[in-house]
Amino acid sequence: MPEITEGMIAVDDALKNVLAGVSQLGSEDISVGEAQGRILAADVASHLTQPPVDVSAMDGYAVRAADVAKVPATLTQIGESAAGSGFDGKIEAGQTSRIFTGAPVPEGADTIVIQEDTDVDGDQITMKEASPAGKFIRPAGLDFKTGDVLLKAGIKLNSRNTALAAAMNVPWLKVTRQPRVAILSTGDELVMPGEPLGPDQIISSNSIGLAAFVQANGGVPINLGIAKDDPDSLREILATITGTDMLVTIGGASVGDYDLVKTVLGEEGLDITFSRVAMRPGKPLIFGKINGIPMLGLPGNPVSAGVTAALFLRPAISKMLGAEDTTHVTETAVLGLDLAENDKRQDYIRATLTIGGDGALTATPFDRQDSSMLARFAEADCLVIRAPFAEPIKAGERVEIIRLDG
Ligand code: AMP
Ligand code: MG
Repeated sequence: MPEITEGMIAVDDALKNVLAGVSQLGSEDISVGEAQGRILAADVASHLTQPPVDVSAMDGYAVRAADVAKVPATLTQIGESAAGSGFDGKIEAGQTSRIFTGAPVPEGADTIVIQEDTDVDGDQITMKEASPAGKFIRPAGLDFKTGDVLLKAGIKLNSRNTALAAAMNVPWLKVTRQPRVAILSTGDELVMPGEPLGPDQIISSNSIGLAAFVQANGGVPINLGIAKDDPDSLREILATITGTDMLVTIGGASVGDYDLVKTVLGEEGLDITFSRVAMRPGKPLIFGKINGIPMLGLPGNPVSAGVTAALFLRPAISKMLGAEDTTHVTETAVLGLDLAENDKRQDYIRATLTIGGDGALTATPFDRQDSSMLARFAEADCLVIRAPFAEPIKAGERVEIIRLDG
């Protein structure tokens, strides 16, 4: 059980508990062409040597270095080597072969004279520049060799390393299965965008935002819809979480009369690890397991939901994916505005980031930090972290930040 102060657990302890409560998922084989953004589940070794043979790095003539040690030297062209169709013959003293970039260097030749340094008269080629042995030749295996382990389990595949896997002639990659994250909103006031809207109703922006967040971080969002603030409605939707890897509820996590998540899920078997975190925004944050499925109960205010998702949901998804990075990367920036002393909750202050003329990164907090202000949150680039009981701080001093992604 985590240490709890005044009913609240510290952010770092909360994160440790979340990470301890989720496990890496199994793997699946997918085509290398569809692997972009996926997390590699096993090391990948090359199936071939690249380049397979010595090849030319330039368009020109394959020669024996000794023949062009003194220039000009006129050699007789006896063949042509192109990429994909090499010249079978052997280059003897006094001979040369036309060669193109990527083409195999014919036997006997040990250097290339680039075409700009030659004069051509039929099959008589005059080399005007010397070229030492090995020049403009890419030796077999220059890039990599059969058996070289070039991609490691845990990396997030990008366009460069899927290209590399393809070059290694690895058509299938073992990647971790993408976590299916069920998203359940709660609240009588909520409707989905475009639906008929009563006078007291608002849009369930979190349903959209969190689904996008899950997707952006490598998961598959499953939108379970909106439960009413009544136990039966919540129970009915809860029955549909079977087969998902994680449940994320939004709203109903506080202590208001309509905050049913803890009680109803509790009756349905939720084993709660913590339900209050010493942070702002995001104090009413629940983590636990319901019938073996990890459950994260996010607060309803859009900024609170977004910040807690960045701090806890992203690492949880990363762990399920077996990704290398399961904690958030913090950086430092220059503070753009004075800040007052902090209270007992760790603060995550929404701010914009700018780069000054001197190249210094400046984080400027918004003047109002209300956790319902989605327009500001959408504009924010980062969160400025303020430790519990932090002293007042002046503009120009350095602060720790976490970047928010798109
Ligand atoms: P709650 O945690 O249910 O008390 O909600 C706190 C605030 O967040 C209330 O103003 C709710 O209307 C709002 N809220 C709850 N869920 C959502 C949602 N899915 N999208 C947008 N706002 C929400
Ligand atoms: Mg509510």
